[in-house]
Amino acid sequence: EKRRLNKQPYGRKRDMPMNIAIDGPVGAGKSSIADQVAQRLHILHLDTGAMYRTVALYMLRNGIDPQDEQTVSARCGEADVRVAYRDGAQRTMLGGEDVSDLIRTGEVSAAASAISKWPAVRRRMVAAQREIAATADMLIDGRDIGTRVLIDAPVKIFLTATPEERARRRYRQQIEKGDMTPYEQVLAELNARDAQDMNRETDPLRQAEDAVLVDSTNMTPEQVVD
Ligand code: C5P
Repeated sequence: EKRRLNKQPYGRKRDMPMNIAIDGPVGAGKSSIADQVAQRLHILHLDTGAMYRTVALYMLRNGIDPQDEQTVSARCGEADVRVAYRDGAQRTMLGGEDVSDLIRTGEVSAAASAISKWPAVRRRMVAAQREIAATADMLIDGRDIGTRVLIDAPVKIFLTATPEERARRRYRQQIEKGDMTPYEQVLAELNARDAQDMNRETDPLRQAEDAVLVDSTNMTPEQVVD
C-alpha cells in the first residue's frame, strides 16, 4: 500500500533507476532472455560480458597473454570500453570502433574468462557498470551483478540449466551459423569457462542469497521470459 501511494515499485528510492540483476553460467541464455524481458518492460539491457570481452580483444590485438596478470593489470586502463544504444540494442565500442560482432569468437570468450580473474580489470569494469546502471532503468546481466555490482538491486535472478543442456543449446546455435565444432568440444569449453569463473578469487560466479533461482533446463524461452 505504501509503495502504491508513493508510486515506488520494489521499494526503490525516488529518482533511483530500477535495476534488475541477472547472473548465471555460460550459455544459460542470460543475454537473449534479458533482451526479451527488457523489451517487454521498455527498459535497456546491459550485457556486462561484452565489456570484459572488449578488454580481452584489446589484449589479444596487442599480443598480451590474458593469463599474464601483471601486464593485463598495467594495461587494462588503455582499453577505452564504452557502451552505446542503437534502436534500443547495445553496441560495444573499443576506442570508438564498434566491436560488437568481433567479440563473439571462441578465442575472445576464453580470453575474457582469463582476464576477468584479475582484480585490476574487475575494479574498472565494476565502476563503469555502476555508472551506466545509474543512468537509466536497466536489466543487467553478468556473473557478479547481484553479488558485487548492484548488491542493492531490488530484483535478482540466477538463471541456470544443466551443463549438458546449455552445451546442447550452444551447439545448435553454432551449427545454424555454420560452425561445426563438435558437441563434446562445446561442452568441454563451457565447463572450462564455468570452472574458471566459479573458482576465481575475486567475485566468483555464485548465486546471491537474495536471488531467485530459475533453472531453465526443462523450460522454453517463453516460459523463462514469463
Ligand atoms: O557473459 P559472457 O559469456 O559474454 O562473459 C564473458 C566472460 O566475461 C565470462 O566467461 C566471465 O569470465 C566474464 N564476466 C565476468 N563478470 C561479468 C560478466 C562477464 O567475469 N559480470
